[in-house]
Amino acid sequence: MKLVLMSCCAPCSAGAIKQLADGQIPGVDDFIVLFFNPNIFPAAEYDKRLAEQIRYCEKLGVKYAIGEYDHAAWRDAVRGMEDAPERGVRCSACFKFRFEYARRWAAEHGYDAVTSVFGVSRHKDQSQVDRAGYDVFPHPPSSQAMTPPAPNAWGGGHSDATQNVTRRGVENIQYIPINWDEALRCEINRASDFYRQKYCGCEFSMRHDTNATQNTEKIMVVR
Ligand code: SF4
Repeated sequence: MKLVLMSCCAPCSAGAIKQLADGQIPGVDDFIVLFFNPNIFPAAEYDKRLAEQIRYCEKLGVKYAIGEYDHAAWRDAVRGMEDAPERGVRCSACFKFRFEYARRWAAEHGYDAVTSVFGVSRHKDQSQVDRAGYDVFPHPPSSQAMTPPAPNAWGGGHSDATQNVTRRGVENIQYIPINWDEALRCEINRASDFYRQKYCGCEFSMRHDTNATQNTEKIMVVR
């Protein structure tokens, strides 16, 4: 299986990329890191996170791709949800917006499946991310297990042997939920000099007073 790993930043993706690069995720023959984060504001912050992402990918020698940065389009996608709390409806819309892009991107570039590190932060809810994934990608796997099925279970993988890209219909792209190794991610972060952002990404997540409150309260996720 050829997998697209959606990444929001180097600190969140460090462990996942290492696991994939080391072949620790069964069934994955090939992968690429896709940085598509038009949610990040301002542009200077986006540039910092992108530079760190590229630096880490190149250090490990893994492939990466960069999506368009169109913050205005992202604002349209979350219009009316600006005041929602983190882990609320705005975040679900944000995940779906990025997953929709990844689904199209994967189909156009000959990949079979998409996963992400959107849920690894302690400020995020992995189950909310997975629900967004299942809403965007049809035919979700019946199992919630982290281990992806063998490539032929997905209708055949793609070989890079000829460097040909086989375009697929978006309906064939699968969402793969993966629970990444949190201990490994923390270990890499402790040993790295990553630029560490202080908020999730969008201008609405800069309201630290609001988000600090959420961290101490049980948040009901509203889809
Ligand atoms: S807080 Fe993070 S996940 Fe939620 S809408 Fe903003 S950038 Fe997206």
